[in-house]
Amino acid sequence: MTEKFSPRNRKVRILATLGPASDTPERIAALYRAGADAFRVNMSHGEHARHAEVIAAIRSLEKQFGRPTTILVDLQGPKLRVGKFADGPVMLEEGATFVLDRDSAPGDVTRVELPHREIYEALEVGSRLLLDDGKLVLSVVALTADRIETRVEVGGKLSDRKGLNVPDVVIPVAALTEKDRKDLAFALDQGVDWIAMSFVQRPEDVAEGRRLIGGRASLLAKIEKPAAIRRLEEIIELSDGVMVARGDLGVELPPQNVPPIQKQIVATARRLGRPVVVATQMLESMITSPSPTRAEVSDVATAVYDGADAIMLSAETAAGDWPVEAVAMMDKIATAVEADTGYSARLHFTETLPDATTADALSAAAGGIIGTISADAIICFTSSGSTARRISRERPSVPLLVLTPKLKTARRSGLLWGAHAVSTRDIGSFEEMIAKGKRMALRHGVASAGSKLIMMAGVPFGTPGSTNVLHVATLTGDELKGFGEEGKADGTS
Ligand code: PGA
Ligand code: MN
Repeated sequence: MTEKFSPRNRKVRILATLGPASDTPERIAALYRAGADAFRVNMSHGEHARHAEVIAAIRSLEKQFGRPTTILVDLQGPKLRVGKFADGPVMLEEGATFVLDRDSAPGDVTRVELPHREIYEALEVGSRLLLDDGKLVLSVVALTADRIETRVEVGGKLSDRKGLNVPDVVIPVAALTEKDRKDLAFALDQGVDWIAMSFVQRPEDVAEGRRLIGGRASLLAKIEKPAAIRRLEEIIELSDGVMVARGDLGVELPPQNVPPIQKQIVATARRLGRPVVVATQMLESMITSPSPTRAEVSDVATAVYDGADAIMLSAETAAGDWPVEAVAMMDKIATAVEADTGYSARLHFTETLPDATTADALSAAAGGIIGTISADAIICFTSSGSTARRISRERPSVPLLVLTPKLKTARRSGLLWGAHAVSTRDIGSFEEMIAKGKRMALRHGVASAGSKLIMMAGVPFGTPGSTNVLHVATLTGDELKGFGEEGKADGTS
């Protein structure tokens, strides 16, 4: 029996990271009920066997709730780390000399291993090295092929395997490490929907990711390096989606630079029609507290007002004490913003002009028709999901029902602003399109007697290709009775 589940009438999507605090089947279902639309599995932690169980648990929601699920696997990427210390953490004093080298012997207060060969070549005297999320700062004083001598600019405690950020230079590291390649093969084998690439620096990094993924999943580029901002447009264009990864971005750049960059990334992604996720520390205090700070509430609201496709929870749901409450809080904030009459005006403040394609022309027209005839929903028939992305890009004010014969497409649509995807049999004729559109609109709660429905599809039916039909249908009271009892509740008919 599928559990009764009314469609969300929230447009922005919630992406929840799973971890020890939330990754049992019961808890995943609880997050889903609270409002999580998609789940992130983080390859920086845990083992494949466990990840496989978690992925299976997410997919089992499809039976339980009769809705497609969306899984994003986040690859660790070339995160640089120092080696280990002989006698536990060391205290680095300001002004002291500290050496990073390629000697695997345990470190002390004078030196530690830094295994990544590429950095030694990319650095220059004067380059800044940030340790442990930027808490410690070193500057390069002298440099050879296997030894970096630094001066401690900001001191503090340094312990085993702490992360190292090098904001000033593009490091010639491969976009995907050996571990990433293994994790990627695993994730593709598991049939996940989205792969996130961490620490993307160049468009070539994304191209390499695309080549390895080979269309088996969508690719999300995490923007967390200053180098990536410099080539933002090219990177977004090569990606299927992007993340404003504010955690590492705020280490690599002064934190006050992050809000303008967030605006820039969101606006660029929206213009190019790629879903954009705003991530990290959104409700950080809810890791330990059942209620957020006012500033966090405001931060979540800002991302929604900016028109982000999705907002993400990290440690709040993965490792916090209040994972379900954090999702529920995000849901409430987003719902309140979307109910604000000023929301839609702000959302369209940055005009996104259509491309010169039929699909875009029709998507833009659909946006206009909604207001003119008070349409209740847009129903899009799509195979690859590309039309759904173009309609979503218009940020229509009514529900967008995405009907697709491909389960894969339905699942991938889970990060798209406003898209309610249904995996359903393909249509073969115009009459079928209208009947099915009406039936699905009714079943998914986006229409009632008298509703005007905007339908978009591609003719000839059954052959994937660009959308070229826009049809307006009206649901009559008689049809309402006729459709009432028909079909399976899970929308997979
Ligand atoms: P992470 O990425 O949580 O994998 O580090 C997000 C970020 O850096 O903000
Ligand atoms: Mn990161």
